Amino acid sequence: MGSENVFVRREVRELVEEYIDIWSLQHALSLMGWDIETYMPEDGVYERSIAMSRINLMIQRMITRREFIEKLERAEKAEDLNDYERGVVRVLRRLVDYYTKIPPRIVEELSRITSEASVVWRNAKAKDDYDLFKPYLARIFGLEREIANHLGYREHPYDALLDLYEEGLTTREFKSIIDRLVPGLKSILDRIISEGYFPQYHRLEEEPYDVNIMRSVNKKILEILGHNPKRLRLDESAHPFTSSMGIWDVRITTRYEGKDFRRTILSVIHEYGHALYELQIDESLRASPLATGASLGIHESQSRFWELMIGKSRPFIENLYRNVLNGYLWSQDPEDLYRYFNIVRPSLIRVDADEVTYNLHIAVRFEIERLAISGEINVNDMPEMWNDLMDRYLGIKPKKHSEGVLQDIHWSQGSVGYFPTYTLGTIIAAQLRDAMEKDLGSLYNYISTPNLAPIREWLRIKIHRWGSTYAPKELLKRSLGIDIDPTSYLSYLEKKYITKTL
Ligand code: MG
Repeated sequence: MGSENVFVRREVRELVEEYIDIWSLQHALSLMGWDIETYMPEDGVYERSIAMSRINLMIQRMITRREFIEKLERAEKAEDLNDYERGVVRVLRRLVDYYTKIPPRIVEELSRITSEASVVWRNAKAKDDYDLFKPYLARIFGLEREIANHLGYREHPYDALLDLYEEGLTTREFKSIIDRLVPGLKSILDRIISEGYFPQYHRLEEEPYDVNIMRSVNKKILEILGHNPKRLRLDESAHPFTSSMGIWDVRITTRYEGKDFRRTILSVIHEYGHALYELQIDESLRASPLATGASLGIHESQSRFWELMIGKSRPFIENLYRNVLNGYLWSQDPEDLYRYFNIVRPSLIRVDADEVTYNLHIAVRFEIERLAISGEINVNDMPEMWNDLMDRYLGIKPKKHSEGVLQDIHWSQGSVGYFPTYTLGTIIAAQLRDAMEKDLGSLYNYISTPNLAPIREWLRIKIHRWGSTYAPKELLKRSLGIDIDPTSYLSYLEKKYITKTL
């Protein structure tokens, strides 16, 4: 590949050409969204939300225009399409289906109720008052059920919602992953805790840091990871995120909480993984429907690979100790620092969870979403079910709704079916690690030098350059010959925390 035109067929070229208008609006939305979280003066949000919702409507109108759909149908009928062309048709068909199968009344109500619900949720969480949020939650799950019915599904209504975030993922498939994962994770967790080598608490969690020092530490870390500063920037926001304007302008953010410095470091490495994916998409796909990641799960596998498999690895932390944090005297020795970065403890809050317990939090949410969408439980059952599952999976029980069923923003935004992509990300990251070691040998040779270029290049060739040319499962099959499977992840944890052979 290179920057030659990979879209050859006239029918597809016409579609891709027309799509540049949609891409341009999305480019504007990305920049506006990034600006909200970073530099916009607070009250700007009122006008910004009008502008953004109008632009969203414009995009929706462009996608559902007769001429556009006819162009898509012509491309669908064309024979002998190459992989890129088939990718364009697949991605645009999904987009058109979403906007044409769901009645505008539902899209409109969901958008109205979720913008209210986000405010109500924040309030309910602050007051620890589930009843305040409950009617909104009931309505949102009701609308999600309607959406599932309109989109259609083969086995379970939740399949239709999962597919929105992770193309092709089914309830049955994810349930079988969770059923294998939960006992494995629980057993590893029990052994880590009874052995005590990896601490549940570390004094560095309370150690204050100088924000300016951490800013320069993060800058050095980005240099070690490797990036082109003309195409990537790091800013600050309340919650870390990645936003891509295109394949040559990707922005990441972090936050500085003033203590527990591993949190800002790991967030930078995590977002770097997301950013690198977008930055290494092939130039020939620029401004096309394929110029983004294959799915949320594959995207998260990139961030989790860098955060867990690189950032929390012993050689990376040794290098951090000797060459980056050296002189700040935050830790007695590299092994102490390694154990600080790899604290393991069951906690109530998902976003604070470590790599061993994190997916147990997702299992709780998956179980509740699945049963609520099928109608086996309703919003009255959710708080108790949440607490019971936490007790069963993690051995701890929330005493407040704000630390239980009210903790996450996702449902208030109408994101039902999103959580499983986090678990897929971690599982796939471990599978990537195994596949990479088969090709490159021990990753630690590269991390300890550090020379991460071969790792970046491997990811570019196997995953990044394709953008969303292939659906996620097909990408993994073609590039690595694998199906999604939790075995690699469990054995990675076993080697790292139990036998300590990593
Ligand atoms: Mg992420």
